[in-house]
Amino acid sequence: MKKMMKKFALTVACVMTVAMFAACGGKDEKADTITFGTNAEFPPFEFVAANGVIGEYDGIDMAIAKQIGDEIGKTAQIENMEFDSLLLALQNGQVDAVIAGMTIDPERAEEVNFSVPYYTAKQVMIVKEDSSIAKATDMADKKIVVIQGYTGESCVKEMGYPYEAFKKGSEAIMELVNGKCDVVVIDSATAQKYVGDNEGLKIVEDAEAFSSEEYGIAVNKKNTELLEQINEVLNKMIADGTINELSAKYSEQ
Ligand code: GLN
Repeated sequence: MKKMMKKFALTVACVMTVAMFAACGGKDEKADTITFGTNAEFPPFEFVAANGVIGEYDGIDMAIAKQIGDEIGKTAQIENMEFDSLLLALQNGQVDAVIAGMTIDPERAEEVNFSVPYYTAKQVMIVKEDSSIAKATDMADKKIVVIQGYTGESCVKEMGYPYEAFKKGSEAIMELVNGKCDVVVIDSATAQKYVGDNEGLKIVEDAEAFSSEEYGIAVNKKNTELLEQINEVLNKMIADGTINELSAKYSEQ
């Protein structure tokens, strides 16, 4: 009798183990995928599209993420979240890497590791075509809008001008289009996209006020192996011109 009970318990344990594996697809799903966190509100780097390169997500960064997945033998997945939450999600292990047109800066580099830089950008000002703003100091008495947590916000903060921060670039642009603000400070390639998509806007640059920035992929400080793999793919994509091609393709769209 005791023997039978033991056998029964063993069978139950086996069935449960099999069922557990079956529920997970019978394999360790995490080993087969690489999850990138992004904020799909930043064209031409990441945006939602009907037929994106990874599901509904498209853009320069999404194509890079897809290629990284392909080259390291994993399926690239995207977790779309607020820009401000990305580095926390990385530290919590919710995502494996962050690709979000993210500028490599010393403050962020204290929290996470950054890949080699893959894109050079700068902050610019978007204004109405008839605006008198010609340089950054002209913003002093104007209504400035930035996007929360972007490097553009830190730049304006450092200049000491009051501003309003919006959660999405598209919302900030609507404020400008509707005449509710005078200037939006945002990254150059994204600015070009917005100016192309909306009538009556122009870009004003000020190289003295805004230095150049470099985008990198962020990885958890503990995950040095993944960082090396990402760097290898990025270096290759930079050297063979793939990143330049992607930038040209998505900027023209
Ligand atoms: N490059 C800017 C930053 O890192 C904006 C990035 C973004 O909005 N995705 O803050």
